This record gives sequence, C-alpha cells and structure tokens, in this order.
Amino acid sequence: MSDIYTAQPWNCGDSDCLLGWHKESFWHYEDGTWTVDRYTDGNHQKCEPEDVPTWEQEEAAWVRYAEDVAETGEDPLSVFTVERTYKRTARWEFQYTPSILGMILVSARKGDRGPSVKTGHLPETVRDCSGAGEEAQGRYVFLGWEGPDGKINKSRDGLLLAIVHDDDARLTSEARGLRFTYPIERTVYRKETAITRDLKAAAKRYIKRRRKQRKLAADRKHQA
Ligand SMILES: [Zn+2]
Repeated sequence: MSDIYTAQPWNCGDSDCLLGWHKESFWHYEDGTWTVDRYTDGNHQKCEPEDVPTWEQEEAAWVRYAEDVAETGEDPLSVFTVERTYKRTARWEFQYTPSILGMILVSARKGDRGPSVKTGHLPETVRDCSGAGEEAQGRYVFLGWEGPDGKINKSRDGLLLAIVHDDDARLTSEARGLRFTYPIERTVYRKETAITRDLKAAAKRYIKRRRKQRKLAADRKHQA
C-alpha cells in the first residue's frame, strides 16, 4: 500500500518541450521508502527522503508556476479552471406547409430576420428540433403529435397541438400552413485571447491568496 504524499510543478527548461512544466509526485510506502514519479505518468523511481519537498518548498513551486501562468496566460498543467465554452440560445423559426404526406417542413431561419434556409441545408441540431423526420424523396414531414388516446396526429391540427403543448415553442403565423419558433442552444468556443486573459487573472488571484495566507500564518507565529 502506498499513498501519494505530495506533488509539485517543475520546469524542464527544454526549449523543444511543448509543455515546459511538469508535475512530479512523491509516494511514501509502509516500509518507509519513497518514490518519485517525475512526470506523474506512472513511471516511478526510488528516491531519498531528502528529495521530498517540504510543505514550504512545494508551495513556493506552485507560486512559481502560477507566476509563469500569470505572465504567459498558458497553463500546461491545467491547474486553473476557466470557462472554454459557453451556451448561446437562438430562436429558429420553422415554416411548415400542408401536403398529401402531412405537414412538410419547407424552410427555417434564425431569428425573425435571418435568411431562409431550405430544410435539406439546415444544421442537424436545428433540424432535430423542428419536429420533422425525413421521408422518402428527401422531404421532411412532421412526425406527429401523440394525443392522450395514444393516436399519432400528423395533420395540421396535430402540428398546431404540438406547438401549443410545447412550452418552448411559440406560434408566429398560421398563414401558408404553420410557422413557429423554437429556442435552440449551441456551444460557442471562446476566443483564445479571452481564455488567456482569464488564466492570467486566475493565476494572479492564486498568488495573491497565497501571499495573504502566508502573511496570516506569519502573524500568528509572531503572536504566539
Ligand atoms: Zn518538458
């Protein structure tokens, strides 16, 4: 049995290294021996107790790492948590027209002014929210509304019921069939510059917090 005892960052100084920083972990065993896993990749080597950093040394190493992150905005050890994506919701408007197949989805557009997109060219995530399924000949037909009696209604009335019963759907027009909007959420990737800025700020906060804690500890020692 063994336990990870402590871990600290170290800089390899290798200009060819993509990371620059690595995390080394120190393990303590029941028989009193130690190992170090220099890259925290499972590759252990025996080491001496003197090689194990003290709590102060370990903390200083993390502060050095944070100072580097605060300067470069790069966090190769993924220590600081920053949002890399966010969700954005846009309402899409769907236009259905009646046909002998049932209600056919003919087009959709983002917002109420966006260009009209033919069903076949819609992004999949958008089409998935339209309520239509693909039929033969590439047409997208309303899949139907299941009433309390379990019957599937694929008619105009069925679509209207489906819209009315869906809290997120909003009927916008009954002309030329039915038109309604539906909110569609998508993941937006933040710009690298925004992530870098957040990483720098997070690292600076960490350094400040550490300084404050060290000062508190020193004051307490002084008072004792
Ligand atoms: Zn390296």
